[in-house]
Amino acid sequence: MAVPKKKTTRSARNQRRSHHALSPKAINTCPQCQEPTLPHHVCASCGAYRGKPVLEIKDKNDKSTRRSEKKKDKKDNKSSN
Ligand SMILES: [Zn+2]
Repeated sequence: MAVPKKKTTRSARNQRRSHHALSPKAINTCPQCQEPTLPHHVCASCGAYRGKPVLEIKDKNDKSTRRSEKKKDKKDNKSSN
């Protein structure tokens, strides 16, 4: 295994790490619903890309029905076993 010959000084270490800073994520606003979106991504709230509808977004209230469907599936599996 290669072993460093000299201890890296605080100065050299800090100069190396000067390029490690994270930059904040770019956030655009959807032209249709004004919700914050990631650039080059379909809007998660209205399903539009560059102002044109691309996806059908189901209501957020439907999550409860999804959960109940999953529970039903589990129950069905248990009963079948
Ligand atoms: Zn939108």
